[in-house]
Amino acid sequence: MSKIFIDPGHGGHDPGAVGNRSREKDNVLKVALRLKTILEGYGHEVRLSRSTDVFIPLGERARLANAWGADYYFSLHDNSATATATGFETFVYNGSVSAATTKIQNAVHSSIANQIGIRDRGKKRANFAVLRLTHMPAVLVEYAFISNYSDETILIDEVEKLALLTAQGIVNYAGGKKDVAAVPNKPTPKPVAKTEKLTIELEFTSGTLRKVVETFLGSKLQQEIAVNAASERGYSSSWVNKQTDGAAANGDLVALMIGAGVKEFK
Ligand SMILES: [Zn+2]
Repeated sequence: MSKIFIDPGHGGHDPGAVGNRSREKDNVLKVALRLKTILEGYGHEVRLSRSTDVFIPLGERARLANAWGADYYFSLHDNSATATATGFETFVYNGSVSAATTKIQNAVHSSIANQIGIRDRGKKRANFAVLRLTHMPAVLVEYAFISNYSDETILIDEVEKLALLTAQGIVNYAGGKKDVAAVPNKPTPKPVAKTEKLTIELEFTSGTLRKVVETFLGSKLQQEIAVNAASERGYSSSWVNKQTDGAAANGDLVALMIGAGVKEFK
């Protein structure tokens, strides 16, 4: 398993960006604390740059991760600009980076983008200190704009979802064996009762439908329901195991559902 360093931005006298209803330093700390618990539930070792509202200089954040020998570094931030700016983006260092850096950015970016209801501003590169000074693959996440009303609502109300999607992206690349008991507050998948009318039927033709399936599979919970449903319809139980182990990515599940053909879903 991996050593994962999570860096919630700002803190203490540095609030980061300030919205109408929240502050960046508080929003990202909440996500970081949940992300730590979820990743530990997958067997990873996790350290935070801060677990309380304190100020840590940028160089010190990178130094802590380097000294620990972290395998990956994730810096969590809220974006800010004009009131109309919106969307999600991720950054890696704009100098030379390892192939692993690009891959982990891809994994985390694709796990979150288009799953939180705002536009995907893309995978970017920048000369941010924590990206430049860290010695391991490092990704900086800008979840949404605290300066935009509806983006800020996501930052305030969707802490659990942001943490789950980020964890899913990390696990998709770094691996991890889920220990369900070790993940408190995890939503329990609703068991698919034999008598319950499943919303998944067979037949699949258009690209539009494919898009809907991808959205449908946006959350871990929905994936579990989908895979359980497919399993009940006689598809291989190995898919259920792969999904439970976190080894099946969204693309795999989409392929599975396309193979099954999907007509209707809720
Ligand atoms: Zn920030």
